[in-house]
Amino acid sequence: MTTTAPAPKTSAELSHDPGFIQVENPSTGAVAGTVPNLDEAAVDALVAAARAAQPAWAELGFSGRARYLRSMQKWFIDNADLVAETIHRENGKSYDEAHIEVAYGVMASAFWARKAGSYLADERVRTRSPFVLGRKLVIRYAPAGVVGVIGPWNNPLLNNFGDVIPALAAGNAVILKPSEITPLTSVLMARMTSEIGLPADVFAVATGDGETGSALVERVDALMFTGSTRTGKKVAARCGERLIPVSLELGGKDPAIVLADADLDRAAHMTLFGAMHNSGQTCTSVERVLVEAPVYDEFVAKMQVAFESLRMGESTGLGTSDSGSLTFLPQLRTVTSHVQDAVRAGARALTGGAVREGAGRFFEPTLLVDVDEDMDCMTQETFGPTLPILKVADEEEAIRIANSTSFGLQASVYTKDKKRGQRVARRLHAGTVTINDVLANYFALELPMGGWKDSGLGARHGAEGIRKFTKRQSILVTNFPMKNELHTMPFNAGSQALMQKIVKVVYGRPRRTAR
Ligand code: NAD
Repeated sequence: MTTTAPAPKTSAELSHDPGFIQVENPSTGAVAGTVPNLDEAAVDALVAAARAAQPAWAELGFSGRARYLRSMQKWFIDNADLVAETIHRENGKSYDEAHIEVAYGVMASAFWARKAGSYLADERVRTRSPFVLGRKLVIRYAPAGVVGVIGPWNNPLLNNFGDVIPALAAGNAVILKPSEITPLTSVLMARMTSEIGLPADVFAVATGDGETGSALVERVDALMFTGSTRTGKKVAARCGERLIPVSLELGGKDPAIVLADADLDRAAHMTLFGAMHNSGQTCTSVERVLVEAPVYDEFVAKMQVAFESLRMGESTGLGTSDSGSLTFLPQLRTVTSHVQDAVRAGARALTGGAVREGAGRFFEPTLLVDVDEDMDCMTQETFGPTLPILKVADEEEAIRIANSTSFGLQASVYTKDKKRGQRVARRLHAGTVTINDVLANYFALELPMGGWKDSGLGARHGAEGIRKFTKRQSILVTNFPMKNELHTMPFNAGSQALMQKIVKVVYGRPRRTAR
């Protein structure tokens, strides 16, 4: 009997097949690739294989695993153009911005290869408690097991594989579920790990939609989620029911505060970058500016010149475009509605204000003034190339409005007075504050980054950015064991009295708290 292989499906057929996801190039509308939409059984099989592979990976120890991370580092350098092209093709960001993600891949591989061992080394703890004198106290960090990483579409490498690296370095097997809008970079990462010889099944990519993500949440031992606050809350609730640790990096509405004594050229330049990087589709983009009244007009004039000078369009190589396309079609509607609602309510668009005609998903860089603090463009995440600027009377009003949204991811403050900058920073409800700078903190991998309020839980980077992928174990060793202890049975009045005396002697006179 002869069998004939079925003819490969055409892209039109695949676009209607629920077992596949067709990825679109948002700059051109062309098909950028097709990936499987994995069902629950497929996710189950990936997690089972990862679980079987994990113990041997953990056994390699930090230096054994670091060797693979250094191979990743080299692979990223050797294949930078291929990775940047893949990011550009599925996300629409410029080649320049795509290369920043690649640089992050290089840095993160090097950083976690170097630092995982010291962040996760056994910690010896000292105690002043008289009841455990002579004991050895140790904290150790064991790998969580199989870690799930679920990522968004705005940074296909940085917020997807970027979090896989520390999870692997900690000794876990990892399954990455990238966004269904931009899965191709993650598929390339699976190719990379196979090319560098990472042991089979230690890392896998589960392409698919929200249901694939949900199947992953049901099976892993720890979860790293980056995405919208709405989905993040759902995922966190399920992790709570399963009692597995979850780290959440969610949305933001980051304010920039420009104080009257700021270097206005610096403030305008950095705010432009902060607002327009990745066409505003960055969780930590500057989404609103609060400017002290005496410098408002001058600042707005500088921002208008800066916005007018931006080159919008498809990036065809390095240095060819400042503002790429929006990645996700529904985002174009959100951006449009925030701008139109503001204008209807009395705001003015000094630049742009509309969707660009023609192919691709481009929205004109839009500077909004005469906004008020309650408009959607000032309170809801816009995630687009728009920037509302509000005049405030003073520092107090700036702080009040900055803290008035449900988000608390990042903020920036511009002033020449360093003390004043720190004073304002410490009153802002945000996980990170940059003074006279923007976004730069993301490249200091020693510095934890994570949101307050609706912007998330936990952090990436720093010690916390890898300990979250572990189970902490405290070990107490009694080096000189006696037959019994003062606090153990059989209770007797003498030993109880002695215990009370010790408590009084050691703790009876509270010391002054050090300032
Ligand atoms: P999203 O919440 O729609 O999707 C994120 C991921 O969750 C996708 O992979 C999606 O398939 C998956 N998902 C959807 N439903 C799920 C479910 N029920 N269970 C498990 N997984 C599910 O977010 P998005 O639109 O892809 O990303 C944009 C958002 O991400 C913005 O709000 C942005 O601010 C945020 N973000 C935050 C950070 C940060 O570090 N704080 C970084 C990048 C993006």
